[in-house]
Amino acid sequence: MNDHLVKAYAFGDNVRVYAATTTNLVEHARTIHDLWPTSAAALGRFLTVSAMMGAMYTKDQELTLRVDGDGPIRGMVATANAHGEVRGYVGNPHVFLQYPSGKLDVGQAVGNGQIHVTKDVKIRDTFTSTARIQSGEIGEDFAYYFTASEQIPSAVGVGVVVTPDNRVATAGGFILQRMPGCPDDIIDTIEAALKALPPVSDMLKDGLAPETIIKQLAGDDHRVLASMDLAYACDCSREKFERGLLTLGKKELTSLRDEDGKIDTVCHFCATVYPFDKAAINRLIDETDKA
Ligand SMILES: [Zn+2]
Repeated sequence: MNDHLVKAYAFGDNVRVYAATTTNLVEHARTIHDLWPTSAAALGRFLTVSAMMGAMYTKDQELTLRVDGDGPIRGMVATANAHGEVRGYVGNPHVFLQYPSGKLDVGQAVGNGQIHVTKDVKIRDTFTSTARIQSGEIGEDFAYYFTASEQIPSAVGVGVVVTPDNRVATAGGFILQRMPGCPDDIIDTIEAALKALPPVSDMLKDGLAPETIIKQLAGDDHRVLASMDLAYACDCSREKFERGLLTLGKKELTSLRDEDGKIDTVCHFCATVYPFDKAAINRLIDETDKA
């Protein structure tokens, strides 16, 4: 089954719910970044939240999200857009930390610090909102981010199940957001529904589709607004890396050419290598003369 996302209104249109399955894109991230289990769980949860947040915006907007913690994972970066495209990386892919119970300890891996969300609406400057990391378990941290930074009371549940032989078995989650003016008795109903909801990783183990997660949350009191496919996608190109190298200037490019004879640029997001040999570097140096 393709990764996909469903957006719905629920509880008498008093909440907006996003639910997603992201197993394929998280497994793809695990493969290209060579992620160990705790790094895979952390980045997987983060990519899942990012994909759902991308769906909150309109077509031309792009989000850049950063989890800037002091734990061994050394931070995470993701971008997402309204087309269901998401990509990301971790500072340290080789983290494997567990609680005594055997559960992956994402909180310790992420550590303390801040979340930053930058919106590029393409017409004006970008703007960034920031919130303090709460537990490092990602779901709680983004629930706090929405509530504190965007003034939207929210609940976020994300989960990634990694098999003992280190493959991503399932990944997904939900974001529930209360609309302004939600009556108190509905708030109580929502709180009770959230309390009764099994942990996301348990629901995912049972192979729940996004539609089913929404149904488990809200029963029949919901209406689906939209559904879209999600995918891991990177828009990097050799031309982008050329432009980046040109900003180094003639002197730096000349010394890189003379020291190493080549430059291998690597895309952090998709791990594609763009090699520049001596002739290619010389062409770039010629171009700095023209500029
Ligand atoms: Zn790339």
